[in-house]
Amino acid sequence: MPDPSSLALPHIAKLHAYTPGLQPTESGWTKLNTNECPYPPSPRVAEALRRELGDDGASLRLYPNPKSSPLRAAIAQHHGEGLTADHVCVGNGSDDILNLLIRAFCTQAAAAGYTLPSYSLYPVLVEIQDGATNVIEFDRAMRLPVERIAASTARAFFLTSPNAPTGVAFANTDLERVLASFRGLLVVDEAYAPFARENAVPLLSRHPNLVVVRTLSKAYALAGIRVGYALAHPEIIGLLDRVRDSYNVNRLSQAAALAALGDHAYYSGVVEKIKATRDRCVRDLITRRAWFTYESETNFIFTEPKNARGESGPAVAKAAYDFLFAHKVLVRHFPSHALTASFLRLTVGTDDEMLVLNETFDAWLKSSKA
Ligand SMILES: *Cc1c(COP(=O)(O)O)cnc(C)c1O
Repeated sequence: MPDPSSLALPHIAKLHAYTPGLQPTESGWTKLNTNECPYPPSPRVAEALRRELGDDGASLRLYPNPKSSPLRAAIAQHHGEGLTADHVCVGNGSDDILNLLIRAFCTQAAAAGYTLPSYSLYPVLVEIQDGATNVIEFDRAMRLPVERIAASTARAFFLTSPNAPTGVAFANTDLERVLASFRGLLVVDEAYAPFARENAVPLLSRHPNLVVVRTLSKAYALAGIRVGYALAHPEIIGLLDRVRDSYNVNRLSQAAALAALGDHAYYSGVVEKIKATRDRCVRDLITRRAWFTYESETNFIFTEPKNARGESGPAVAKAAYDFLFAHKVLVRHFPSHALTASFLRLTVGTDDEMLVLNETFDAWLKSSKA
């Protein structure tokens, strides 16, 4: 018998898997690397999970609602803008939704477009599908390349807005300029929209080729429960429903998500706190450290560290990353692209966590002076 892996399809055999951020299992880390929420979810979430489980977990015998119907209705109501449950598809995280979109709209003959840098899962999903890509590069200003996207021949274009890992948001007026001439599906991945000034949901009613993708992993502190969703024209939702697993969102996740969406007051407090911490940290990086830092409309900060000699660059960013890591502060470094290699991405944590981060940067500067 030859190596059974040689039986795999060629494009699968040469696949590069997505690299998730590290999830250390031992305690003592200041974890600012995967944009999770530093605060717990609404207390209503744990209550809803206990209610769903009951004393003996008997409800787990039964399959969940296959379409997550109550959750679809709650999501539509949460957003308003004339949306109904028919405009919503729920996924096992928004990664599930992105995968469904690639499956439904991308092949060798129908390219998936995306920008560089942006969310690095898109090319992995396209590779799994053996599809073609259409890549549009930013320059350091990180302004939306409206004309190039509008002229793209991609069947579906994935735009992360606000963008990751830069934190830079794109205005609805720019999205509308793209939509005015782009003939494909424009997928706006709004994982960080709750931290932004604007979002694309109000554009949905006028643009049947627009899909907005959201997640409860970041602002709703539910990364572990895996719920995300698409908002789109009912015909698009119908296509996603044909492609998805029939029970793609489990009972506990549906119950948790419903409870979270019902506690608007709690989450607006969480988001305001994170934004206040973020804005204070960005100002400090810019004014006190004089590190080039993008204005963030997310729950993370993209900054270009300078060493004690005032130098920046990929080696400096790597040195800062390594020093932080050695002191159990975990952030993210993206060395594989020229526009990201000299930067670090810092998730906005609690004020205490940001204090630890700051003190560790100070210690790094002192150590590199010696
Ligand atoms: C975190 C993130 C996601 C993934 O969200 P899940 O719902 O946890 O799968 C999708 N897109 C972007 C841009 C993200 O940052």
